[in-house]
Amino acid sequence: MKIFKTRREFQQYALELKRSGKSIALVPTMGFLHDGHMSLIDIARQKADVVMVSIFVNPTQFAPNEDFDRYPRDFDGDVAKCIDHGADVIFAPEPGEMYDEDASVWVEEIRLSKPLCGRSRPTFYRGVTTVVAKLFLLAQPDYAVFGLKDAQQCFVIQKMVRDLDFPIEIIPAPLVRDADGLALSSRNRYLSADERSRALSIHQSLLAAKTEIVANRESMDEALERARAVITASGGRVDYVDILDCRTMEYPTSKSTQVIVAAAAFFGTTRLIDNEIFDL
Ligand code: AMP
Repeated sequence: MKIFKTRREFQQYALELKRSGKSIALVPTMGFLHDGHMSLIDIARQKADVVMVSIFVNPTQFAPNEDFDRYPRDFDGDVAKCIDHGADVIFAPEPGEMYDEDASVWVEEIRLSKPLCGRSRPTFYRGVTTVVAKLFLLAQPDYAVFGLKDAQQCFVIQKMVRDLDFPIEIIPAPLVRDADGLALSSRNRYLSADERSRALSIHQSLLAAKTEIVANRESMDEALERARAVITASGGRVDYVDILDCRTMEYPTSKSTQVIVAAAAFFGTTRLIDNEIFDL
């Protein structure tokens, strides 16, 4: 296992690997790794000669009132898990290492990133696309694996790669859940036992909405309203529960085939997101 802390050493190493003909798969993360992240590493392992994992809590995607300072961190545990799953390289820069002090360039996607999390976190995706573009240029990957836990993020990155001609294949990975249905997330660590059991209402309400919408497309709005009510009744504060066409990230039309029903809700101070993707 090689661990890099600086941009230049990491990029140098990646460029050498490319020159020697090796294929590279990158898994970008913010650390505090769990089985969801591990599933991405396993997919990357099957794709390429060299698997790289980046561990970086990216300050530019957090708003001042968000949880950047208390985001959970466990570098030694993360390294052990990466070794366990056959990753070859970890890139873990300090916050000050990743951006020059006078950095003044952003990468921004302005369509798919607008609804859902983009609406409640207006500077979030700009931070994500900028850091992921930088990671792509540093790691030189042939493949990058992104989880559908953050489906909108995955679609935005696919769009960035297409529109800016990054020579990278984005591999979407299935959402991994705990046995009781809660989507795995580093932020689950913040939940009390009571909040955690109430938070199961997110997935349950999404599943109910999906069943209703698949049975009757005309019932979309009522199904979403019911999902919001279920989460609220469980003590959650709903940020959004919406349905969108996966391709356009706009409200589905008669032409829509694949849709996403996505939710974000606070339990206590913890904001959780989840989604179901399905064909109409
Ligand atoms: P994060 O560390 O939360 O920024 O996530 C890093 C990557 O892991 C992103 O591509 C996420 O979508 C993915 N990921 C996080 N949680 C899960 C999960 N439960 N299932 C699948 N992928 C996940």
